[in-house]
Parts: sequence; structure tokens; C-alpha cells
Amino acid sequence: MSEHPAEELLEQFALRRLSAASVMEIYRHIDVCAHCRERLQAEQAFVDTIRAVLRQVPDEPVGSSSSS
Ligand SMILES: [Zn+2]
Repeated sequence: MSEHPAEELLEQFALRRLSAASVMEIYRHIDVCAHCRERLQAEQAFVDTIRAVLRQVPDEPVGSSSSS
């Protein structure tokens, strides 16, 4: 991957929705591209913020039978 990955791709990366191959391509790119490393960090921070907000809203019933 010689071109900068698209914003959408970095977003998917941060959300861990990419395939292993795509993840490796991005890793390979940010290894040599400080610009995209920063973009990815910003994307990651955004996702972390969203996750932190979502975590405050309990959406899974606690205590449901989960014996295995
Ligand atoms: Zn780049």
C-alpha cells in the first residue's frame, strides 16, 4: 500500500472490523508513514471515547444464566 489509507479504512481499523490482511497492510503503511500513524491515533482516540460513553449504558442483562 503506497497510498495513504482512506479515513474510512482507519476507522474500520480502529473498530477492529478489518480482515487480518487489511490490518497488516495498514500496519505496514504506518510503519513508514508518521502522518497516518497520527491519523490512526486520532481515530483510535475517537473510538475509545465512543466506547467509554457506551460503557456507561448497560445494554446487557447481568446475571442471566451463563453456566457452562
Ligand atoms: Zn500515509
